Amino acid sequence: MNINYIKTQGSDSNISIIFNRGSVNELKEEYGYTHLLEHCLLEMFRLEKDCTLQAYTEFDHVEFDFLIFQNSGDDIYINIFDNIKRIFIEEHITEAVLRQAKKEVLNEIKKFNPRKKMTSEFSEIISAGNVKRIPLGEKASIENVSIEKIEAFKKKFWDNCKILLLAVTEIDYASFVSFIPNVIMKLRVITIKFL
Ligand SMILES: [Zn+2]
Repeated sequence: MNINYIKTQGSDSNISIIFNRGSVNELKEEYGYTHLLEHCLLEMFRLEKDCTLQAYTEFDHVEFDFLIFQNSGDDIYINIFDNIKRIFIEEHITEAVLRQAKKEVLNEIKKFNPRKKMTSEFSEIISAGNVKRIPLGEKASIENVSIEKIEAFKKKFWDNCKILLLAVTEIDYASFVSFIPNVIMKLRVITIKFL
């Protein structure tokens, strides 16, 4: 594991967790599963009130951006890492979560018009260029995903990914690192930026 400690300037307090697997890693029969998994995980996060989360699926990575409001305590960092550990290692995707995630993804597919200029709303496909299979996925493959298939895909995703962690935060480096659960520390590559 590498930890690169880069001092930086800025006033935002946020954490981005980037998994180095995207739609290019999908098998033919898994088309759109990365994007669907991203929506399942979004449903599974239970974050503190003073933190908002956005996520994007790209060809080569999935990114979760946590925006933390100022004056929130250090608990928020612990909460984020606990969530990562829980949703990937301890909990399974439920039928209710999958149903909701499918609904959201199918809605995005329905709204997507490749001839229209892309907006930030479709950041999943901004980097799509002229590649035929876009990270968004397609109706048939998403509709047919079973709970067993997406759960197996989640496991494969986690087992094969490395995490890049980018943090811009006002707390000191040693405390921040101490919040990261061992299970993530042990296996992943982490880069941290500090104020
Ligand atoms: Zn989406």
